[in-house]
Amino acid sequence: MKQVQLKNSPESFTVGKIICLGRNYLDHIRELNNEVTDRAVIFCKPSSSLLADGGKIVIPEYSNDCHHELELALLVGKTGKNIEATTALSYLAGYGVALDLTLRDLQSELKNAGLPWEIAKGFDTSCPLSDFIPANQVADPNNLELILKVNGEVRQRGNTAQMMRSVEKIIAEISIYYTLEAGDIILTGTPAGVSKIESGDLLEGTIEQVGSLQASVA
Ligand code: MG
Repeated sequence: MKQVQLKNSPESFTVGKIICLGRNYLDHIRELNNEVTDRAVIFCKPSSSLLADGGKIVIPEYSNDCHHELELALLVGKTGKNIEATTALSYLAGYGVALDLTLRDLQSELKNAGLPWEIAKGFDTSCPLSDFIPANQVADPNNLELILKVNGEVRQRGNTAQMMRSVEKIIAEISIYYTLEAGDIILTGTPAGVSKIESGDLLEGTIEQVGSLQASVA
C-alpha cells in the first residue's frame, strides 16, 4: 500500500514519510507514567508498515504485548519547511483514521536501555490506515471525537480537543526538523485507553467527520 486515496476524488498520493507524534494527550502520558517533554516526541514509521482498511494485523513473534493507539492522521498536500502555525492547515490535503500499533514490551525494553525504540513501532502492518477525506470537509480538526472498539467494546474514547499540541502546532513543529512533502502522513498521538490486542480481535476506529477504519488480528 504505497498509494493513498482522497475520498470522492480522483486524487491519490504516493506515500512519503510517516511521521508520528508521541505523548500528545495528557491522560495517555499519565497511563504510561511518561514525562511531559518541552520538545515534541517525534518518530517515523516506514511505508512498509501501512495496512489498508480491512486488512489483517500480524503481531511479530518477538512480541507478546501489542497495543492499539487510535490517532487522527493528516495527509500533507504540498511542500513546506518552517511552516507557521497560522498557515499550517493550508498544507493539508486530507484527514484519515490510523492506528499506531506498538509492541509495548519491546518498546519498554529499548526505552529502559536508552536505545531508539522505532522497531517497536514500525513493524509490517503496524500502521492500519483509512482513505482520506478532503481537508476542506472537516470544519475544525481540533475538535473531533475518536472512538476505538475492540470486538464491539469501547477501549478508547477521546477528543482531539484534548491534544496538548493542536494540528497547526504539530505541523509547525515537525516542519522545523523535516521538510514536509505531498504524500507525507502525520499521526497526531493517542488518547488514553491503550491496551493489548490478541489473535482474532476485530478493531474498529471512528473519528467524527473523518470516517472509520477496521482491522483484524491474524
Ligand atoms: Mg501513538
